[in-house]
Amino acid sequence: MTKIILKKGREESLKRFHPWVFSGAIAQVVGNPSEGDVVGVFSHEGEFLAHGHYQIGSIAVRVLTFGGEDVMSPDFWKNMISRALKVRTAAGLAAEGGKTNCFRLVHGEGDCLPGLVIDFYDGVCVLQAHSAGMFRSKSEICEALKAVFGDRLKAVYDKSSGTAPFKAGLDLVDGYLYKAPSFSDDEQVVLESGNKYFVNWTEGQKTGFFLDQRENRSLVGRYSSGRNVLNLFCYTGGFSVSALSGGAVHVDSVDSSAKAIAMVSRNMSLNGYDDSVHSEICADAIEWLRNVPEDKYDLIIVDPPAFAKHRGALGNALRAYQRLNASAISKVASGGLVFTFSCSQVVDKEAFALAVFSAAAATGRQVRILDRLNQPADHAVNIYHPEGEYLKGLLLYVE
Ligand code: SAH
Repeated sequence: MTKIILKKGREESLKRFHPWVFSGAIAQVVGNPSEGDVVGVFSHEGEFLAHGHYQIGSIAVRVLTFGGEDVMSPDFWKNMISRALKVRTAAGLAAEGGKTNCFRLVHGEGDCLPGLVIDFYDGVCVLQAHSAGMFRSKSEICEALKAVFGDRLKAVYDKSSGTAPFKAGLDLVDGYLYKAPSFSDDEQVVLESGNKYFVNWTEGQKTGFFLDQRENRSLVGRYSSGRNVLNLFCYTGGFSVSALSGGAVHVDSVDSSAKAIAMVSRNMSLNGYDDSVHSEICADAIEWLRNVPEDKYDLIIVDPPAFAKHRGALGNALRAYQRLNASAISKVASGGLVFTFSCSQVVDKEAFALAVFSAAAATGRQVRILDRLNQPADHAVNIYHPEGEYLKGLLLYVE
């Protein structure tokens, strides 16, 4: 196995369990590793520190274990997935027959599996590898899922073509790693907090559904009674269904993706809501909000895609969050609520709060923060890897 020897003193972060080795910390590579190989990491003095996946790039090793576990054995994957499932069970998400049967099973560094995401949709596991090592470990991971879930597993779908780090030349194709004989669809109905949603992992964005908004969707439901709701960047209508189930009078859902809007319509019918209580609008949400009459809506949800995908885009992103939030705060009716979010990892919660503060100040309205919103338990943050925190939001009351 290749040995990665660190520069003097560069073992400190690994000793604090941070799971990345940056290429700049490496003194010597003993061997000739391919991308995705398991390598051993050693201090300058020769002390063993960790095993991890090697990759060419600024993050050279993603750590799988700091101990002596055999990372090459099939039991390794079974143990790691069992540990991840135990967390979801502790959070009350994994029980069969409950009101929720979909959750994130593996959240990368949050589950000590850097580079791997697995979402669980009532027995269908949708996997996205973000690293070469995880991409090359797909079949072992699939075997581990079979062992952990047994008969409960319906399928394992690999959706890594857009996330795996390989450059052009390798034609990556998404597809099933496993399908139970009785399972044939590319989508299914899942339950979240008692509401039903179609999830289509082949056609949908990411793994098919934004599971990270589960708790915030419930909260919207709790605040929706008697309100006229506008759901901006609605995707397949998660917040819209929860608003109606919470007693909203009417919901308008806006997204620029025609595919997403078609799915909103199906999700409405699935839950028994017709067009007397709901409208779907395929449009640019920012433009559309500009032309919304003031006071029409007394609850507005603003959940845009990440405006900053890297640090260089931070300034522009903050200005964009400020403009969008100023627009929402100025339009909402008196006594209305704004649920506003950012899923940009590089925008931390203080920076986001500051952007929303500037937005509020620009409108001149009285605004109170009723709640601070986060990612849920199944998107857990490894305490040694604070970079894993990405979803933040505020619930505002606008007088
Ligand atoms: N709130 C959603 C998730 C939102 S993801 C949920 O709970 O499921 C962000 C969404 O914004 C995507 O559906 C994407 O299609 C949409 N989007 C991106 N840019 C947009 C724009 N300019 N106007 C409207 N929608 C946009």
